[in-house]
Amino acid sequence: MPATPAWPPKSLPRLFVREELADGARVGLDAGQANYLGNVMRLREGSELLVFDGKSGEWLARIVEAGKKHMVLEVERRTREAEAVPDVWLAFAPVKRTQTDWLVEKATELGAAKLLPVITQRTIAERVKLERLEAIAIEAAEQCGRTVLPEIAEPVALARLLEGRDGRTLYFADESGGEPAASAFRPGSAMILTGPEGGFTDEERASIRAAKDAVPVSLGPRILRAETAALAALSAYMAVAGDWR
Ligand code: SAM
Repeated sequence: MPATPAWPPKSLPRLFVREELADGARVGLDAGQANYLGNVMRLREGSELLVFDGKSGEWLARIVEAGKKHMVLEVERRTREAEAVPDVWLAFAPVKRTQTDWLVEKATELGAAKLLPVITQRTIAERVKLERLEAIAIEAAEQCGRTVLPEIAEPVALARLLEGRDGRTLYFADESGGEPAASAFRPGSAMILTGPEGGFTDEERASIRAAKDAVPVSLGPRILRAETAALAALSAYMAVAGDWR
């Protein structure tokens, strides 16, 4: 009998690094990453971990130098190719900081390719801090096994968002009614749009509905909070037209 139970399986720590990875590459880690691996994960020289750079997939690496404020890894072999997430963008009106953080973390786990904060007439949000949102997306990607990070766009005004969609279908979460989420989504390039806590103004709703390839979508009979609506719409898309099928 093994002394320790074999379940749950122990997975290797995963770390995002900014350097490009390749067979045999040596990667220096900064103080924050060295502290995480050494003091939080208790890794030592010789320990293995998984690393990814957002482009070349996932790699097995080994710690070859372990200092308090600096570590060096050596890349041994590729363990996975970069995955292709469905081509779905999530455009959301930012809410309060905690809820926006939560939205970005969960949307990364759910597999959004790009996140776009949208400024609408009723958007009440503290300034969106892109660096903070990027850090949250990196942590979520490390945890959920993504090898490609979602792109996080600068906040954009609603009118500009409606113009610059590169031909993708616009799925507009409309609490006043629309096609049921279970049948609305189709495979193909998509952008999901959800509104702020106070909803869209009548004028905004009219301009969204009039936009090319816009599909109003209903997320059911209850009014969802803005961040719940964004994640519910993304989940429904993944189930019906994305990579949960
Ligand atoms: N206008 C509403 C009000 O103040 O009564 C609430 C807006 S809701 C909190 C925020 C956003 O979530 C909406 O603009 C919409 O995009 C989305 N949403 C919430 N519930 C929804 C539903 N049942 N169907 C579709 N979209 C929904």
